[in-house]
Amino acid sequence: MTRELTHYVGGTHIAGTSQRFSDVFNPSTGVVQAKLPLASGQEVRAAIAVAQSAQEAWGTTNPQRRARILNKFVSLVYENMDELAALLTSEHGKTFPDSKGDIQRGLEVIEFCVAAPHMLKGEFSDSAGAGIDVHSMRQPLGVVAGITPFNFPAMIPLWKAGPAIASGNAYILKPSERDPSVPLRLAELFTEAGLPDGIFNVINGDKETVDALIEDPRVKAIGFVGSTPIAQSIYAAAAAHGKRAQCFGGAKNHLVIMPDADMDMVADALMGAGYGSAGERCMAISVAIPVGEATADALVAKLVERIGRLKIGDGMDENTDFGPVVAQSAKERIENYIQAGIDEGAELLVDGRGLEVPGHEGGFWVGPTLFDRVTENMKIYKEEIFGPVLCVLRAKDYEEALRLPSEHEFGNGVSIFTRDGDTARNFSSRVQVGMVGVNVPIPVPIAYYTFGGWKASGFGDLNQHGADGFRFYTKTKTVTTRWPSGIREGASFIMPAGS
Ligand code: NAD
Repeated sequence: MTRELTHYVGGTHIAGTSQRFSDVFNPSTGVVQAKLPLASGQEVRAAIAVAQSAQEAWGTTNPQRRARILNKFVSLVYENMDELAALLTSEHGKTFPDSKGDIQRGLEVIEFCVAAPHMLKGEFSDSAGAGIDVHSMRQPLGVVAGITPFNFPAMIPLWKAGPAIASGNAYILKPSERDPSVPLRLAELFTEAGLPDGIFNVINGDKETVDALIEDPRVKAIGFVGSTPIAQSIYAAAAAHGKRAQCFGGAKNHLVIMPDADMDMVADALMGAGYGSAGERCMAISVAIPVGEATADALVAKLVERIGRLKIGDGMDENTDFGPVVAQSAKERIENYIQAGIDEGAELLVDGRGLEVPGHEGGFWVGPTLFDRVTENMKIYKEEIFGPVLCVLRAKDYEEALRLPSEHEFGNGVSIFTRDGDTARNFSSRVQVGMVGVNVPIPVPIAYYTFGGWKASGFGDLNQHGADGFRFYTKTKTVTTRWPSGIREGASFIMPAGS
C-alpha cells in the first residue's frame, strides 16, 4: 500500500485534511511510493498560528542558546546521513554520494549560522551628540516562509531555515511536492536537537498552499527558489502584500574555454558540471563556449569520447554517474527540447533519447546529450532545459565569449577555463553574471559567502546564506539615547542635526 505522508507542525506530524493529494514517485522505477497531502488555506493558517505563538519566546532566546541547538542538529544529521541520503535518492533520483553532497552543503550553512551571536551584533556610537549615544540592533521578523525546488531537497531548505531560525524567527517550509520526505525527516531531527515546537514547520502543498502563505499578513518574508516564471510571480505577489521577498529562478550557465586551457581538465569538468545530477542543478553547465575552431574541435572530440563511458542507472548503484530525471513530465520536456534543437539545425552528436536501463524499465531516463554548432537564436540556447543536455556554441574570439553569458537572459553562474591570469581577471570583472568560476566548473560559493544569480536568475536585493542570510531574516532597529545627566537644552523646535 502507498504510504501517506504528513505535514509537520508544532513539533509533530499532522495528517492532511484537505483531501487533495499528489503522487511521490521513485524516478528510477516510475513507481508511486507515497501520497502527499496538499494543504488548504485553512491548514496553512493553522500552521501560521502555531508558528507565531512559538516565535515570541524563541525570538528573545539568547542567540548562543539558539546556536547550540543548531550545533546539535548538525551532529544528528551527520549521524543519520546514510538514511537521509538514501531517502533523498529514492525520491529525487540523484546518486547516493550526490545526495550526501546535497545534505552536506546544507549543513555547511547551518554550521555558519552557529555564528548567530556574532552576526546579530548591532553597532554602537558613543557621543553621537552631546550626551547622546546611538546603537542598532537586529531583530527577527517573526514568522517567515520558504518555498523550495525539487532539485536540492535538503540543501536549499537548510540554506533558508538556518539563518531564519538562528535569527529568532519561526520558519514554515513549503518543500517541493516531488521529494518532500527529506524535509520532513529534517523537521524531526530539529525537534530531536531541542528546537522548540513550532519553530521549524513543514507544510506540503501546491499553488493554493503557497498563495495562502503569501496572502497571510502574519508571514513577514518569503524566500523562494525554483523556476523563473514562478519566482517572478511570487516576488510580485509578496511585494504586493507588503512582504520582504527574495526569489531565485532558473539558469543557463556558460563555461568559456580559452585556447590555452588544459583540454582534458575542461572535458572532465564538463562531464560532472553538464551531466551530474542529470543536469538538474541550477549551477549545472548547459553551454560550453570554446574560443576558436581549433579549441572547439579538440573539445568536442574529448567530450564525445568521455560521454561514451558515462554510466546512467539507479542512484544507489555505486557505478552510476547520474540517475534518472525527476518526473515523466521532465523527461518529455527535455526530449522536446532535443527535438527542437534538431529542427533548428544544431548538430546532434550524442542523442540521449530512448535510453533503457535494464531492470528499471519504468524509470524516467534521459541519457547524456551533446549538441554542437548551437547558435544564439536557438531555443535550446535561449531557454533553460534542466536536463542532461550540453550545447556547444563556438565563439570566434574572447570578446564574443564574454558577451554571450553577459547578454543572456539568465545570470546565475559562469566559468572560464584558462591558464592566463589577465584573461581570468578581465572576465571575472566584466562578465554580467552573479557567480563566477575560474577553472572551477560549478562555482557555488561556500557557506560564508553569499549565493545568488543576476538578471532573470534572481529577484530581490539580498542573496542567500553568508551575511545576507542574516540581513534578510532580520530588521534593523536604531536607538538614540540620552540620559538625564546629559546636556539639557530646554524645548527646541529645530530639527536635530549633527552640528
Ligand atoms: P518550480 O518553479 O516548478 O517549483 C518550485 C517550488 O514552487 C515548488 O515548491 C513548487 O511546489 C512551487 N510552485 C510551483 N508552481 C507554483 C505556482 N504556480 N505557485 C506557487 N508555487 C508554485 O521549480 P522546480 O521544478 O521544483 O525546480 C527547478 C527550477 O529551480 C529550475 O528552474 C532551477 O534552475 C531552479 N533553481 C534555481 C536555483 C537558484 O538558486 N537560482 C536553485 C535551485 C533550483
